[in-house]
Amino acid sequence: MTRDVGLEDELPDWAGAKEFYQKYDPKDVIGRGVSSVVRRCIHKQTGQEYAVKIIEVTPERMTPQQLEEVRLSTGKEIEILRQVSGHPYIITLIDSYESSAFMFLVFDLMRRGELFDYLTEKVTLSEKETRCIMRALLDAVSYLHANNIIHRDLKPENILMDDQLNIKLSDFGFSCHLKPGEKLRELCGTPGYLAPEILKCSMDETHPGYGKEVDLWACGVIFFTLLAGSPPFWHRKQMLMLRMITEGRYQFGSPEWDDRSDTVKDLISRLLQVDPEERLTAQQALQHPFFQQYGGRKRRLFNPHHAFRVLAWTVRASIRIVSNYRRVRPVTKEMLMCDPYALKGVRKLIDACAFRIYGHWVKKGEQQNRAALFENVPKAIQLVLLSTEGEEAPASAVDDPPN
Ligand code: ADP
Ligand code: MG
Repeated sequence: MTRDVGLEDELPDWAGAKEFYQKYDPKDVIGRGVSSVVRRCIHKQTGQEYAVKIIEVTPERMTPQQLEEVRLSTGKEIEILRQVSGHPYIITLIDSYESSAFMFLVFDLMRRGELFDYLTEKVTLSEKETRCIMRALLDAVSYLHANNIIHRDLKPENILMDDQLNIKLSDFGFSCHLKPGEKLRELCGTPGYLAPEILKCSMDETHPGYGKEVDLWACGVIFFTLLAGSPPFWHRKQMLMLRMITEGRYQFGSPEWDDRSDTVKDLISRLLQVDPEERLTAQQALQHPFFQQYGGRKRRLFNPHHAFRVLAWTVRASIRIVSNYRRVRPVTKEMLMCDPYALKGVRKLIDACAFRIYGHWVKKGEQQNRAALFENVPKAIQLVLLSTEGEEAPASAVDDPPN
């Protein structure tokens, strides 16, 4: 249903739209959603740049029932955004306007765009960077839940970044108020991020429903994806992927997870708990040792005991680095030929090449997923290596890796 809302199409003859166009000058398209187009826009008086989400509500394109649903859900989105705007890690709604054909939501402009695209550029993130992003995300989720709001569509596409790579949570299109203990049954969200209880209650009428714990499951999926580069639950056949989710079947596989700390794996596994009662809350996740290391902004006063421990740790680490370096075996042609993916440096190069070539492809269509680019079987490696020499690998081959 998405259509490019051309500037000519948007010419206003209705009050809300007129007001918007009097105040702002819409520019290039910076994002698209299911029924919206997001453009950069300029506040005419101040010259300040913003982002405007334009939602089309025209009777030619939708049934009266769909129209009513979009209007109602956008109204709810605006109400929630007004309530939560101002939190440092949540997008700020500046203005909103409504006309008979379009709704305009003006936001802070997040120049670096989606976390999804940032990850595609970087392939995987370090634990340090992940800590920073996840701390901010969990802080935002904790704030929402404390205000009895559930987001229901947490994913890297809905986490936006500014020039300094600070993140803000956006897209409250599926969010709603939820009283403590209240349960929902509606099946909504994005397949790879759906919590098991959402799927179970859509298949079983006697299921009691789901609550805000679903947001913590999605946080677990995001957490995993940032560090591994690929999501925990993925299969070419969506039914099989959904079964993996309901069974909580995922792995900290080798080699992606070999260098990751046990602390971060522990935290992720406590978020990816199939039983929502067992899953950590946002506050509990923020108390996990993973976030207690390198607390960030707090200034430490000089403490001789702590200084001695740091010194001892540094000496031990240096000795280990030197002895590991001595033990390192030289990379031989045979090693490169038989299992190049086992070598960390080469592995990173292969993944980076794959993303350089297929980065545009990971997001296209429902069936495709960045996980396919990590299918590190010899055939896939051959294809990636082939394509770095200038040949595009046939999509079917990448789509269909041998199991
Ligand atoms: P939908 O509900 O239709 O998914 P979103 O609110 O998620 O719409 O916006 C769609 C896309 O537009 C986002 O994924 C992002 O790429 C871009 N976008 C949205 N808001 C902003 C913003 N404030 N700054 C920069 N880009 C944005
Ligand atoms: Mg979105």
